[in-house]
Amino acid sequence: SSGLYIVATPIGNLGDITLRAIEILRGVSAIACEDTRVTGKLLQHLGIKQRLIRYDDHADERARVGLLALMAEGPVALVSDAGTPLVSDPGYRLVRECRERGIAVTSIPGPSAAIVGITLSGLPSDRFMFAGFLPSKAKARGDVLAELADVPATLVFYETSPRLVDALQSIDEVLPGREVAVGRELTKMFEECRSGSPQELIEHYSANPPRGEIVLMIGPAPAKISTMEDAESMLRAELVHSKA
Ligand code: SAM
Repeated sequence: SSGLYIVATPIGNLGDITLRAIEILRGVSAIACEDTRVTGKLLQHLGIKQRLIRYDDHADERARVGLLALMAEGPVALVSDAGTPLVSDPGYRLVRECRERGIAVTSIPGPSAAIVGITLSGLPSDRFMFAGFLPSKAKARGDVLAELADVPATLVFYETSPRLVDALQSIDEVLPGREVAVGRELTKMFEECRSGSPQELIEHYSANPPRGEIVLMIGPAPAKISTMEDAESMLRAELVHSKA
């Protein structure tokens, strides 16, 4: 049926494409993508020939209207270079417009680096906050970390390898002593997930400059003691914990 299909694609290991994704990519009348070469390679691997249209959220209004017109004729898929579209990737404006116009939107789920990172990190996963990319300038990065300092959830960021040590240094300054985890090259041959204090990780990655793609995670803010009651209940919890 017609409408927009949001299709997740692998973040490294091509085996992670889903059966449903293959079926949809084969069946749509066009695929909107970030980079036609990247998506072309995936389709070639899958043995699929398709019409590719470049799309990003900064595309002018005409490009978006063009895609919406195509959807009236037949189904269109949106993919990004890797992982789940809309997650630090284009698509949200397109989905928004589809919803406003009553065009059906269907999501075909699959890999997303943030989720893979969370599942490997050993950090609390009951509550996590995905916060996209940290700013590249130190001052702005410190400001964002300070803003998130009290969030009672594991923080998840996307990062690039050349900036990892700088980001860890900002964490060490703004959130010293927090547990940090670095997921690198997830689902790929040299996948690793390393955790420690910001200091330990700065030491490791300064001596071993990282390559490839990175998910950076920070453990939740420690519980705040703001009232006498808080302090008492925390002490009670500690006692129960130490008796167990
Ligand atoms: N939409 C994608 C997703 O769902 O994961 C993310 C797109 S974002 C533009 C690209 C960033 O995702 C990279 O800079 C890196 O932080 C992260 N990433 C993508 N693939 C990864 C991988 N295999 N291992 C670790 N991080 C990855």
